[in-house]
Amino acid sequence: MKKDASNEKAERTETKKEVAALNRRDLLKTSLGFGAIAAAGALGLHFSGSKAEAAPLRQMPKKWDEEYDVVIIGSGFAGLAAAAEAAAAGAKAVILEKMPTYGGNSIINGGVYASWDDEYHLRQKLNLGNDSPEQHKTDTLKGGDFYGFPELVDILTKGATPALNWMIDKGGLKIREAVTRAGGHSAYRTHTCVEGVGRGFTEAIKKIAEGKGAKIRLKTRVTWIWRKDVNSPVAGVEVETAKGKKNIRIKKALILASGGFSRDIEMRKAFNPGIVPEFNCTNHPGATGEILRFAQSIGADSLQLAFIQLYPFAEPETGILDTPAVYPFNGVGYGLVYVSKEGKRFVNELERRDVCSYAQIKLGQKPTYSIFNDKMVIKMGGSKEEVEKGIKKGRFIKAATIAELAGKLKIPADALQATIAKHNQYIKDGKDPEQNKPMTKSMIPLEEGPFYGVAQWPAVHHTMGGLRINKDAQVIDIWGDPIPRLYAAGEVAGGVHGSNRLGSNAIPDCVVFGRIAGLNAAKEK
Ligand SMILES: Cc1cc2nc3c(=O)[nH]c(=O)nc-3n(C[C@H](O)[C@H](O)[C@H](O)COP(=O)(O)OP(=O)(O)OC[C@H]3O[C@@H](n4cnc5c(N)ncnc54)[C@H](O)[C@@H]3O)c2cc1C
Repeated sequence: MKKDASNEKAERTETKKEVAALNRRDLLKTSLGFGAIAAAGALGLHFSGSKAEAAPLRQMPKKWDEEYDVVIIGSGFAGLAAAAEAAAAGAKAVILEKMPTYGGNSIINGGVYASWDDEYHLRQKLNLGNDSPEQHKTDTLKGGDFYGFPELVDILTKGATPALNWMIDKGGLKIREAVTRAGGHSAYRTHTCVEGVGRGFTEAIKKIAEGKGAKIRLKTRVTWIWRKDVNSPVAGVEVETAKGKKNIRIKKALILASGGFSRDIEMRKAFNPGIVPEFNCTNHPGATGEILRFAQSIGADSLQLAFIQLYPFAEPETGILDTPAVYPFNGVGYGLVYVSKEGKRFVNELERRDVCSYAQIKLGQKPTYSIFNDKMVIKMGGSKEEVEKGIKKGRFIKAATIAELAGKLKIPADALQATIAKHNQYIKDGKDPEQNKPMTKSMIPLEEGPFYGVAQWPAVHHTMGGLRINKDAQVIDIWGDPIPRLYAAGEVAGGVHGSNRLGSNAIPDCVVFGRIAGLNAAKEK
């Protein structure tokens, strides 16, 4: 017989009460289906196979050293946006950051932001065709094989433009006069900040957050989340600093904005052993998953943790995603071409990141190259200074002709010339019979030099899975209920991007859900 919703809810509440009532010995004997162990006086449901499993059973602190209305873990886009909104709503807010500098992956990011519009209406001004939040939503869902939750994607795509304008108006963010079409997107909607690196966005949000009184504490590692039992709200966090451990009480809410786990080899091995340790990684060293594990330990649900993305165009030897590594991403809507060491195209360049990455791996010959020319640079949101810098660093290889470029890249010249000539013709014909790429009027044939080549290869980049959240950014527990006073936003949360994130969708995801988390946290009594 089908249970009705109120019966199910009552049953869940009963189960939770039972769990709360069990003493430690009972719990050690009881299997909750995920190897649960709870401490007397503080919850700690440890899943097997993690470092958290070895953590000692935790006693709730007898006294608190400090208290804040809203505590935020992580100082990237999501944490900064949450702090800005919580502080603007009058809450005493603090960001706790384990690293010696603020910004996590956000500050080193490529500075590209997907939004169907902006306050200058650049897409319309540059005559780049139509777009809408609905089209962005359809692309995002399709790009993640429909694993993303439509109600979350809806919030992301509708919120992207207001969030971009908020950073421009309130944080002084400046964007380049260019809009690009990137892999998996069906429209020109990717904007680039003037700095060409995520710092442009983080500085803007930090300015808003600090202007409203939010504080950032560096070198402050969160080592535990305090929650008495499965029916209780989150109570506080334990932190470790150079001066030792402290407990911080939370009066209103805790917001988890601790980013993804691309640098956490143990978690990668546990959730997707195919993403082998030998892969390079684009992330900062602090991109580890302990906060996600602590959240699981206090009852939070998680999902889609096997979905780990490779960035197809990282620097081949180190995996670094520097400015030259953003050109292959931004250039495809303007006619940039990917070629193998044999000088042949191997994929539709407007394909998603997973498709482009695995097409390269399948070639089995490292690296591959992006080929572009001077005419494309400004249009793709690049700059002459960046190109000059890239040449000096040896990342961009410059040549007057395609044959000369082939020589410098050690690619057979006749093969590269033939490939480029064919692609030029496809642009003119508006049809790509070889790779079935949707050709657009904005694409530029590679006829005029100087020409450039940049080497590329996949590196581990983004973890799409994470904590289950609802549209209010509340963290959901394993029984399907929001955990009182606990929110999550940004890469630590799952269910937005599905199996594959479209490039330039992460900044809007983090900022939009960070803002929602901050606003709702400040509203808690
Ligand atoms: C090199 C690179 C380039 C990228 N380029 C783009 C791009 O151009 N456009 C785009 O849309 N996306 C891009 N992405 C993805 C995007 O940058 C990330 O998804 C996004 O920055 C995540 O933001 P976040 O706020 O969730 O986490 P982060 O910015 O990673 O911040 C999380 C912070 O939490 C801290 N933290 C973690 N654990 C603890 C703890 N226990 N105690 C205290 N602090 C803790 C971390 O140190 C970190 O500073 C890029 C990613 C990388 C790595």
